[in-house]
Amino acid sequence: MSIEVNQLYKSYGAQPALNGISFTARPGRVLGFLGPNGAGKSTTMKILSGSIPPTSGAASLCGVQIQHGGPAMRRHLGYLPENNPLYAGLYVREALAFLADIHRIPNRQARIADVIDMTGLAPMQHRKINQLSKGYRQRVGLAQAILHDPDVLILDEPTSGLDPNQLQDMRSLIKQLGRQKTVLLSTHIMQEVEAICDDVVIIHQGKIIAAFPFAELGSRYPDKGLEALFIRLTVNK
Ligand code: ADP
Repeated sequence: MSIEVNQLYKSYGAQPALNGISFTARPGRVLGFLGPNGAGKSTTMKILSGSIPPTSGAASLCGVQIQHGGPAMRRHLGYLPENNPLYAGLYVREALAFLADIHRIPNRQARIADVIDMTGLAPMQHRKINQLSKGYRQRVGLAQAILHDPDVLILDEPTSGLDPNQLQDMRSLIKQLGRQKTVLLSTHIMQEVEAICDDVVIIHQGKIIAAFPFAELGSRYPDKGLEALFIRLTVNK
């Protein structure tokens, strides 16, 4: 199993954010982590990426226990954080080369060329990141996340702020990556789940309130579609 989350709790001071969540994300599948704003999606992803510690509970990536700031699972993980912080002053290719050094990637020129090609960044590779549109910045964020060919990708709202064409490109790229990797993708957009996700986990107020393979939506729930289910589970609670 690629991502195992076991009874994670997180509070920011007195503010509870996660209330004992458990779920599993499996290889070769895209898991849509769906929830309203403030549900706890980013908090979960920050914990899984080792950016912040949980208050209690455990999680592992590819069998390696996650640790706040620990380097052990960096090899396994590609993370696209919310607000996608980028090396704004660097050229696209330069930023990727810098990261390739950090990850000690062998054959780095060939790998950078592959990733530029996969993410459709060829026309922008000699531009500075701070001169790129939002859509291309997201592609650079994804290129950075996949550069070292990790088994697990954690993508925090990777399509937010993209126009319809960029959205389609990004979704098909993620779907393609999901065939080989374990992808955990957070979103509050139902169509995104319908378009690219194999599994669905719905989080609300720091609790998992539904988890199922997308193909079983109709047989498990009588609601007419994901949106109706989501509204029933998350409104007025
Ligand atoms: P989501 O990603 O689903 O929108 P978050 O994980 O960002 O949700 O937030 C979950 C809860 O934790 C919210 O109530 C939010 O206000 C709170 N929260 C998130 N980050 C912080 C922080 N740094 N300090 C205090 N509260 C926070």
